[in-house]
Amino acid sequence: MFFKAKTQHTLYTAGATVLKKKAAPIKEITPEIETLSLNMTAAMNAFDGVGLAGPQYGISKRIVTLNIPAPENGFQSPGEALLIPLMPLTIINPEILEFGEELIPWNEGCLSVPDIFGEVIRPSTVKFQAQLLAGNIIECECGGLLARCIQHEIDHLDGHLFVERMAPEQFSKVESEFRRLERLGAKKKYKRRMKS
Ligand code: ZN
Repeated sequence: MFFKAKTQHTLYTAGATVLKKKAAPIKEITPEIETLSLNMTAAMNAFDGVGLAGPQYGISKRIVTLNIPAPENGFQSPGEALLIPLMPLTIINPEILEFGEELIPWNEGCLSVPDIFGEVIRPSTVKFQAQLLAGNIIECECGGLLARCIQHEIDHLDGHLFVERMAPEQFSKVESEFRRLERLGAKKKYKRRMKS
């Protein structure tokens, strides 16, 4: 492949309209989508993220890049065993088919909500489906950070940020900082740039 990733990346942060919109499904994997995937992967790496959704990059399309490290205690689910060796990985039109019953807390953060972290309770496993860039559709049961990340990124595609999922008493601890961020993000003056 001869695409070259950009070296300057702008991520959209809380308050930006693109983060509140429901992103559109991708009908066809065109060279533009492949270039976007390459640029999003470079941006994710430049910002040290484990996942990035199209809207965070200013593109309201159902595309997500992931770079989940292998868990120290080994793969806990078939999805991790299948997908983690493929990282960094781009997934298209991801969909959750089934949520596991067990709910667990996790201290989440987000490149679009810089410097704010908070506990979010979500199912520990999900059964999910997505298309890979090669065109094949995968379906698997995921646990661990991968399951957490998939849920967080699909929320982005649906126009939601993790702070909306925090319990009110947890959110109140970060609310003023978050509102400040939203005001800056809405004016589009708070984009992050970094050389990769
Ligand atoms: Zn995020």
